[in-house]
Amino acid sequence: MLISVKDLHKSFGELEVLKGMDIEIEKGNVIAIIGPSGSGKTTLLRCLNALEMPNRGSFHFHDGFDVSFNKNPSKNDILRLRRKSGMVFQSYNLFPHKTALENVMEGPVIVQKKEKGQVRELAESLLQKVGLGEKMHLYPHQLSGGQQQRVGIARALAIEPELMLFDEPTSALDPELVGEVLRVIKELANEGWTMAIVTHELKFAEEVADHVLFIDGGHIVEQGPPSEILKNPKEARTMQFLDRML
Ligand code: ADP
Repeated sequence: MLISVKDLHKSFGELEVLKGMDIEIEKGNVIAIIGPSGSGKTTLLRCLNALEMPNRGSFHFHDGFDVSFNKNPSKNDILRLRRKSGMVFQSYNLFPHKTALENVMEGPVIVQKKEKGQVRELAESLLQKVGLGEKMHLYPHQLSGGQQQRVGIARALAIEPELMLFDEPTSALDPELVGEVLRVIKELANEGWTMAIVTHELKFAEEVADHVLFIDGGHIVEQGPPSEILKNPKEARTMQFLDRML
């Protein structure tokens, strides 16, 4: 088990979005998170990376690192938790005045204080890996949405995270650009990256995921292999959701 999360709660003011979730992610597994709009999928992902602070819950990592939000965690623990995972956002979130290469180098150089020359080599190889070797000196506005998202993926990989988090990585893309991004994600899955992906692409989830979480109303309603959850769900709410997605 790479990470085990217990009793995760998150509220925004009066609105309780995550009502106690237990999640385990095995090393090398791909978890697809599905569920209706507003059910808390993005919030869950952001809590896993402490972009949102959970109100309650504890994280246990395979290397012995534990952090609990049941009391106030230390700044150091939050930073350590953040560095465990790399986030790929719906809307890419690239720095507009930096080139693709500079965007990918930013995390390791500024946050992790790594040596620039070394980081440059890593960033170049990651941009090549996502098929952008020729475009690394272009700015985001000179790239298509699919290319910008591939820069986003290279940037998340650059901090060498143990877990990759994808928040609906293709939802902002024109349909003809979705395939190139899904292909890169599929390659990462084949390489053995541990990933959690919020997605509406059920066919993709079926192909790539080892495990599917269906969430609704702040709870994990049902989870299991894609063959069960997507093809043969037990819960009425899962069936209704899948029917609507057809
Ligand atoms: P999903 O990803 O499943 O569509 P979200 O996690 O984005 O759902 O949102 C779940 C609920 O939390 C929604 O009702 C949303 O309006 C609310 N929410 C999300 N982020 C915030 C925030 N920063 N402040 C207040 N409410 C939020």
